Amino acid sequence: KLYNQLQDLKGNIRVYCRVRPFLSGQPNCLSTVGNIDDGNITIITPLKYVKEGRKSFSFNKVFGPSATQEEVFSDTQPLIRSVLDGYNVCIFAYGQTGSGKTYTMTGPKELTEESLGVNYRALSDLFLLSEQRRDTICYNICVQMLEIYNEQVRDLLGTDGLNKRLEIRNSSQNGINVPDANVVPVQSTSDVINLMNLGQKNRAVCATALNDRSSRSHSCLTVHVQGRDLTSGTTLRGSMHLVDLAGSERVDKSEVTGDRLKEAQYINKSLSALGDVIASLAHKNSHVPYRNSKLTQLLQDSLGGQAKTLMFVHISPESNALGETISTLKFAERVA
Ligand code: ADP
Ligand code: MG
Repeated sequence: KLYNQLQDLKGNIRVYCRVRPFLSGQPNCLSTVGNIDDGNITIITPLKYVKEGRKSFSFNKVFGPSATQEEVFSDTQPLIRSVLDGYNVCIFAYGQTGSGKTYTMTGPKELTEESLGVNYRALSDLFLLSEQRRDTICYNICVQMLEIYNEQVRDLLGTDGLNKRLEIRNSSQNGINVPDANVVPVQSTSDVINLMNLGQKNRAVCATALNDRSSRSHSCLTVHVQGRDLTSGTTLRGSMHLVDLAGSERVDKSEVTGDRLKEAQYINKSLSALGDVIASLAHKNSHVPYRNSKLTQLLQDSLGGQAKTLMFVHISPESNALGETISTLKFAERVA
């Protein structure tokens, strides 16, 4: 209910900011984060960035370094319920590499009950809620896991080591779909955990030690939900896309060349395309430029219209990340 009230005020797009804590073993360094209160965050900057030496940004909510995974997820729960009501939902993690995107969506490397990320919590809520409704609605839940790397779509649940490039299709019957991607029916959270592990493994095979592919590609876990009303026989469809975006950091063109530069340009292009789409939806523009990247093409059905979007923007607290922190907050402010 609260969510719907907020929606009336803010439309279907919400932006949350999360500040990662300093990591253990890190030398004591200065934080760029000044004050955090509810929806506002103040960044302390050297005078060369802004005249006043500090700048405030406003979002639907700001989670400080001590926020737990449970707290971060709790505001997301109403969205999960709406997937079972037939809505399309997108949840994004945006930020520079190392700012905590994967931590929010998946969790740390060594997972514990408390540290489970949004993906696991969202899926387990879906199963729980669908179970509660079983006397009235029969739900089918399937997942897909895709990666977009250098503007090419690959199947993380495929059996051929990410070699095959997939096409995105738009049909009147199925809407936007990727016909050749595996769609796997799931019945429990442990089914999903196994699939996510498989996806991670497929991804790791493609990465060399110096080349962490996960930070330079977008990964998208999509959950398709179909519900059949047991009395009326009508069906509803909802979907949820959980997207861990590629690192948003700008690379220095004087320092990288070749493949690394090409990757950076693709990432840059698709993140700005995403920003453009969300900003035009937020400002209710008549034209929404979905066609400018694979990511926005893939998510077209789930961005805009009745669909609901939640963006977690992540920032690192260290003063050496300041430039990226400011550009992340500016990106986020544009779409908020
Ligand atoms: P990204 O996916 O944006 O590159 P990660 O999620 O991998 O960043 O986070 C970088 C490091 O910081 C990881 O070791 C991660 O476990 C840790 N980390 C990130 N966010 C938090 C947090 N909120 N609390 C504790 N550790 C965190
Ligand atoms: Mg990551």
